[in-house]
Amino acid sequence: MAAERTIGGATRLAGLVGWPVAHSRSPQMHNAAYAALGLDWAYVAMPVAPQSLPAALAGLAALGFAGVNVTIPHKGAAAALCHERSAAAERARSVNTVLVGEDGRLRGETTDGDGMLDAIGTLPQGEALVLGAGGGARAAAAALAAAGAEVAVAARRPQAAVELAAELGVRAESWPPRRSPVLLVNATPVGQAGDAGELPVDPELLGEVVCDLAYRGDGAETGLAAAARRRGLRVVDGLDVLVGQGARSFRLLTGCEPPVEIMRAAVRNRSID
Ligand code: NDP
Repeated sequence: MAAERTIGGATRLAGLVGWPVAHSRSPQMHNAAYAALGLDWAYVAMPVAPQSLPAALAGLAALGFAGVNVTIPHKGAAAALCHERSAAAERARSVNTVLVGEDGRLRGETTDGDGMLDAIGTLPQGEALVLGAGGGARAAAAALAAAGAEVAVAARRPQAAVELAAELGVRAESWPPRRSPVLLVNATPVGQAGDAGELPVDPELLGEVVCDLAYRGDGAETGLAAAARRRGLRVVDGLDVLVGQGARSFRLLTGCEPPVEIMRAAVRNRSID
């Protein structure tokens, strides 16, 4: 049974910075983990418009935040605003976790790529195709390449895909993709809001494993995950990835081992007795 928590003057603060953030399940995931471990911490979602990101990150130290997670569309900009970056964040030029040092300096980390790999487990043999060229796509493609996978990227702005592919030493593919990869990773927000049936790619092109980073705040399956399940494919959904990256982020922020099963239950609105 988790201890009851009171937010008070000594409570450590963390949160999520994004635009939008209302759909996010990170607050329920992290707060459930704090409660389970009896940590006097609180995690809040903070909608921050792109033009306000520099002021928001610069204010973290003054406000006493331990750190924040960063989501769409800020991961690339946050990487540039941090004073230092981990090797993975440097390689991907993408940051999803900002740690505030005692001296107020901001250290950027990314747990998106390794968290996605944790969620996928054994990688299928063959080509992985990453859709999108934003912060999530960069982290996913970099982690897959570092894990030895054969990687291609495709994005609706072809030049963005070409530049990302050149930086990471992977292949760029035309948009919309016309070949069926063994592993498809959706790192676009398609399916996350609006029409749940919207798909980022022709469902006829799905291969063996589909990993959708997008997830819906209303709990419904994304159109991509549903289409892959109907075809009997292995599906790693956005909530699986949320737990993978969130567990690594939790460890970085608090220094404690993440209670992964509690976090998994919290994002899926299940109770653990
Ligand atoms: P970014 O804004 O950095 O990048 C989004 C990418 O998707 C860009 O390449 C953008 O293209 C492209 N895109 C946007 N809309 C469309 C569209 N309608 N059709 C095709 N491509 C489109 O966002 P992030 O990389 O941070 O996040 C992408 C998605 O992944 C979000 O839904 C995010 O919530 C999710 N995510 C989830 C995680 C999890 O833990 N489950 C972890 C990381 C990401 P353009 O540049 O042309 O706009």
